[in-house]
Amino acid sequence: MATIEEQISTPTFEESSDLVLSDCALETLALHAGTSPDPTTGAMLTPIYQTTTFRQRRVGEDKGFTYSRSANPTVSALENRLAALEGADFATCYGTGLAATTALCLALLRSGDRVVVSQAVYGGTVRLFQQVLAPFGVDAEFVDTADEDAFAKALRKPTRFVFIETPANPTLKLTDLRLASRLCKDSGTLLVVDNTLLTPALQRPFELGADVVLHSTTKFIDGHNATVGGVLITDDADLNALFAFTRKAIGVIQSPFPAWLTLQGVKTLPLRMAQHSANASRIAEFLASHPRVTHVAYPGLESFPQFQLAQRQQRSGGALIAFEVDGGVAGGIRLMNSAKLCSLAENLGAAETIITHPASMTHADVSLEQRKSAGITDGLVRLSVGLENVDDLIADLDQALKS
Ligand code: PLP
Repeated sequence: MATIEEQISTPTFEESSDLVLSDCALETLALHAGTSPDPTTGAMLTPIYQTTTFRQRRVGEDKGFTYSRSANPTVSALENRLAALEGADFATCYGTGLAATTALCLALLRSGDRVVVSQAVYGGTVRLFQQVLAPFGVDAEFVDTADEDAFAKALRKPTRFVFIETPANPTLKLTDLRLASRLCKDSGTLLVVDNTLLTPALQRPFELGADVVLHSTTKFIDGHNATVGGVLITDDADLNALFAFTRKAIGVIQSPFPAWLTLQGVKTLPLRMAQHSANASRIAEFLASHPRVTHVAYPGLESFPQFQLAQRQQRSGGALIAFEVDGGVAGGIRLMNSAKLCSLAENLGAAETIITHPASMTHADVSLEQRKSAGITDGLVRLSVGLENVDDLIADLDQALKS
């Protein structure tokens, strides 16, 4: 006869994950990787383990979980699914994308260390390096990693890691990840790739030589404007242990409920990314042929300067478009204020289309000088194309452009 503890006990993740999915495609992994029906009740969805602590049988004998700042079964299920989607072995989830970047930096950097960061990256990443880590003696050099010579030159000095965002937010400039991996390996440097803008559905950084992949799961991974979260993914057990230790030590793990919501959102990731891209491609063509639009950056357009690289490295152009209209800053602001179906907001990667003014919103804390050198003009408009009917979106942009 089983004891009460045995009857009510929940198995650790390892015990419950007996489904072999290694040969399955992304669509299947998005639905099944990391979870299996609860052995106690048969519940199809992994429960929200809303518990601080886990009862231990004896001193030194637990079921893999002790305290939810270190690990939690709902969070572990999400970690295993995200690792599987990127084709890697390990993942650690965090309260936000920037918490993941912070844990990465605190795990790997010491005072006096230097990192190379791509010139155009999310503004919060710039702020973290320049305003939080610099006073602790960390030197971040922002380099145009699309320029091979500049990139190779930057790696001549000792570099702890290279942090690349491709496509870059918001300019959509690309970095050649295969080249980046070769340069990093030659100089004994780790390559970290922020894959937030494309997700594993559209770009596979580990197949191109990355050591660590980071996501703000807030964006396409969740995909529903419902949570904030982040993840660090790697194949290296030692690095993963360092990330898990740092997360426990500084207290930045994701909570069970947002992890559970993200587990539901990510189920449709491959389908959503295909539709986001199809909609974005139509809108990019519409914008490129509109007389009021003076500049369009979309990696799926033949006119995009790095179109060939996009074809090699990405499965599609993605969901983001950056553009400028005549009338400069005032023209761009008038357009953004006139959009009705497209919401003026800060997020990207959601089911709903979001229109953003990077200079005053996502990149407001980046200096004017750095914005200029990264190509972020004051009139630049960023569009995160959602899943609405594309003709409705084009009609909205058309009326806003006529305003
Ligand atoms: N990386 C990229 C590319 C982002 O766009 C963002 C946020 O916009 C982050 C990281 C930071 O993520 P979070 O807002 O979840 O902290």
